[in-house]
Amino acid sequence: MQYPRLEEALDQAALNGLLRYDESGNLIHVPFSLSPFSISQAELHEMQQLTEPFSEMMLRVSRDREFIREHLEPLAESDTFLDMLLGMGLREETQTLQLLIQRNDFFLTDHEVSGTTLRQVELNTIAASFPYLIERLMETQRDHFADESILSKMLLPNSPLEMVVDAMAKAVQSYGNADGSMLTVIQPNEANRFDQLGLEQKLRKKHGIRCLRNSLEDIGQNGSLKQGHLMIGNSPVALVYYRAGYTPDDFKNPEAKKGRELIEHSSAIQTPDLWMQLAGMKKIQQALTRPEILNQFAPKPWISKMASTFVKMHSLGEDTQAQDISQNAMDLANKNPESWVLKPQREGGGNNYFDKEMTQKLNNMTPSELKAHVLMERIRPRNHPAWLMVQGQSEYTSCVSEIGRYGVLLANRGTIELNSDCGYLVRTKSEDVNEGGVCAGYSCLNTLCLEEKRVP
Ligand code: ADP
Ligand code: MG
Repeated sequence: MQYPRLEEALDQAALNGLLRYDESGNLIHVPFSLSPFSISQAELHEMQQLTEPFSEMMLRVSRDREFIREHLEPLAESDTFLDMLLGMGLREETQTLQLLIQRNDFFLTDHEVSGTTLRQVELNTIAASFPYLIERLMETQRDHFADESILSKMLLPNSPLEMVVDAMAKAVQSYGNADGSMLTVIQPNEANRFDQLGLEQKLRKKHGIRCLRNSLEDIGQNGSLKQGHLMIGNSPVALVYYRAGYTPDDFKNPEAKKGRELIEHSSAIQTPDLWMQLAGMKKIQQALTRPEILNQFAPKPWISKMASTFVKMHSLGEDTQAQDISQNAMDLANKNPESWVLKPQREGGGNNYFDKEMTQKLNNMTPSELKAHVLMERIRPRNHPAWLMVQGQSEYTSCVSEIGRYGVLLANRGTIELNSDCGYLVRTKSEDVNEGGVCAGYSCLNTLCLEEKRVP
């Protein structure tokens, strides 16, 4: 069955700019849902509250380069991408200002475990996307539900873009060069470019900041350094905003590495800087589930609340305590493949292994490859029926939803100047799809509404 008002919904999506390109360069709508995900007031409050402490913790981790090296260097033996990133790290600090634009992603479960239904999937420190397009979806749904005033009123207000752009402007102004521009580092032929262009438009219109867009290759070929400033043509760059550089695919051309190194040697503020990017690796997430490490980095009053959202994570080869029997993490996964996810140090969706594919992969990796992965307990999120609109077609199916809270943090030499939660993203997908990611083609953008009282 098709959604009865499909044509109207697709028109409203296009009208509100909920757009992207496909592989052939055609303009298409971004996959979206017309069934807001409902959560309780308590869940909303809990997620909002956690943003600031998580950002603060990531700042502290990113400033402990020794800790990062200690945990990531052993993985670099078999992970050439990680090896390259670590190899770019400089001894001296070329810029003391750090701007973090993060998104902390959660699933919600049906039952409370350790006093909460929240389960953290991951915290993105690089290229946390959709702050613009989620607002376009809010408008699309408001138009769509205009006649059903109850529903349109129930949508939880959400405007992350303004605060993201204001934090960027603050960073640019702090750079100390009145001509300083913002440079978005893009993937060549970026399909999801409206999310970036919308953000740049706001930065330019609201704050009068010049915005440039270049791939790492372009920067390698055309960028230069002038008294420490990164120059694109005659423009000094105050802030580099990475929407690329998180996958080895972005470094296929040797010029790209040159571009990334040029930025590293400049005094430009980077969001995120190399160490903040590395702090967002799954291996660090796994290390932070260990109480003694969490205690070292998390703000004290928040430690137990933060820990309550973690599921089990193991490095492979680690001995674990399961049902009072010490068991190797590898054996755990082989025994119950449906309860675990195998993750490499990658971002962007489509990189993880589930079920049979996971056990095959596990049993065929060398010890050094195993080291570069982590094992994460599989979250079984609460499901709900939803209408999904994908490539002009509709489907009504049982879904799961991942909620991300956006946060911005600005710090100088580790002293926090700004730290706030600034809104949400929901990605809804059919419950029988393992992976996630809107650009990777698995999920649909969605919104939140409040339930008065959830039926257990
Ligand atoms: P990426 O950096 O590629 O986005 P994620 O850790 O977010 O990696 O994983 C991608 C997707 O895989 C998630 O959006 C989610 O749908 C699914 N996923 C990841 N971890 C788990 C987990 N522990 N349990 C269930 N699904 C998961
Ligand atoms: Mg993710």
